[in-house]
Amino acid sequence: MDQTMGRFVASLEAHMTPEDVVNLEACMDCKLCGEACAWYLATEDEKLHPTYKTNFVRDIYRRYMTIEGKIGGALGLVPTPTTADLREHMASFWQCTACGRCTLACPAGLSTRSVVRMARAAYTDSGLSHENPTLGSIIKNLETVNHSFGLSVPQVLTRYSLFLSHKQVELPVDIHGAETLFVCPSAANTKIPDYATNVMELLNAADVNYTVSSRIAETGTEADHIIVHHELTRAILEAWEAEAERLGVKQVMVAECGCDTRSMFFEAQELLGRPFKFPIVLFDAVLLEAIEQGVLPVEKSDKAITLHDPCHSTRLAGQADLMRSLLDQCATNFIEMTPNREHNYCCNGGAGGLRLPENTPLRRQASVFKANQIKNTGADYVVTPCVVCMLTLDDVCKTYTLGTQAPGERPSTMMFELVYEAAYAGLERRGELDRFRTPMQLRGRDAAFLREHSASGKTVEFLQSSLGEGLLKWLAADDVVKRYFSANPDAAQKLDAFREIAAGRSMGSMAA
Ligand code: SF4
Ligand code: SF4
Repeated sequence: MDQTMGRFVASLEAHMTPEDVVNLEACMDCKLCGEACAWYLATEDEKLHPTYKTNFVRDIYRRYMTIEGKIGGALGLVPTPTTADLREHMASFWQCTACGRCTLACPAGLSTRSVVRMARAAYTDSGLSHENPTLGSIIKNLETVNHSFGLSVPQVLTRYSLFLSHKQVELPVDIHGAETLFVCPSAANTKIPDYATNVMELLNAADVNYTVSSRIAETGTEADHIIVHHELTRAILEAWEAEAERLGVKQVMVAECGCDTRSMFFEAQELLGRPFKFPIVLFDAVLLEAIEQGVLPVEKSDKAITLHDPCHSTRLAGQADLMRSLLDQCATNFIEMTPNREHNYCCNGGAGGLRLPENTPLRRQASVFKANQIKNTGADYVVTPCVVCMLTLDDVCKTYTLGTQAPGERPSTMMFELVYEAAYAGLERRGELDRFRTPMQLRGRDAAFLREHSASGKTVEFLQSSLGEGLLKWLAADDVVKRYFSANPDAAQKLDAFREIAAGRSMGSMAA
């Protein structure tokens, strides 16, 4: 075996559990798993059948990791997979969202997703993942700036600050002794920061005692689910824990993200080999509690809404009831898809389905089942508590012309957008819209505290440092900023204000 195959096999040996051996050895090759996989059903391509992946890993396992295979291989009696075979099969392991639906159809309950994750880790450990431009860039970005999309923390915070300052909303940063550390997944802080500001507004209005960190802007989802890089994932998880300890919080809150939910409830602890040091709470659970306790008033929307259950939140993390409880509080016209909950079809975007551009034609083809599910509800909006699902469903709705087509509206929306709409109506009726603006930890604080512990204060610091010029150029060229300015033309003045701050002609104004 050559060095690449040697590294691949060494990775399998390091990570294969007894359950994985069962997943490989107990397969009867009945092919029923394919009946649950949208990628296979939509294409009938054998290379997209779950067993195309598992049979290949089994061949490697038997040839290189069992006595019979080592002897039989030397005698030419069993197949000997080569590095060329690894390259030939590689794409199939990312034409899969590790959604776990195929396990529902397997009479033995075998987990293809577990085999796929193990194979992805071996591709990464062997160096072959690096040959794919997207996978290679994720690895490089995480290794260099600890952010899957290559953003620095000052870029993430300053861009949020631009949008928040336009809305006169503040964000607490590095508050020592806050109850909760909030960590936002990189897909959300990269792809939707212009409307993810609603998340901070909801936390402010719900009187949540939280803080964000000025040191981390990555949850590790893509390290754990797309490239399955165990060392990088471990480093990110340990950085969270260190930051939570530094800030003296009691718990860590993850935002709406299916893969994060699965990671934090299950795989993170398996990887670390111990429980995570801090309790994990879900953003939606925090909102539901605030609504149920009467802290966050809501008025239900009467929009026709359906729900997409993210596979990693529902089938793989058991959060189906949480989503429905929130919908019950915020919507009067909720229509379930069929099938739903654990049996729901995947959006086909998670764990790399959306991120890898070469998947796009196949992903859209596989999404015909999801599209039919949405269409059959007759709903105008499909809501989901996962940013990657939402972005993928946006593409599905465009591809299949589904949901509302009203100008300026998106048929696919985040759960927090629905909650925000309901909370806005509730607060407006009470004349309390100001509650969106200031987090509880910044109320009544003096200017020195706000300079140190608010997003606007940190922004002044960044803009007046050696980073300032680069940040201003990046903001001016950034597509999300342009999208925000296009929807809010007067917000462009805020970028001018940032330039004044960077030039030292203004200290900026605190929204709090
Ligand atoms: S995990 Fe999901 S995408 Fe992957 S093979 Fe199974 S059903 Fe198909
Ligand atoms: S359904 Fe289960 S036993 Fe049958 S081929 Fe698929 S993984 Fe193997």
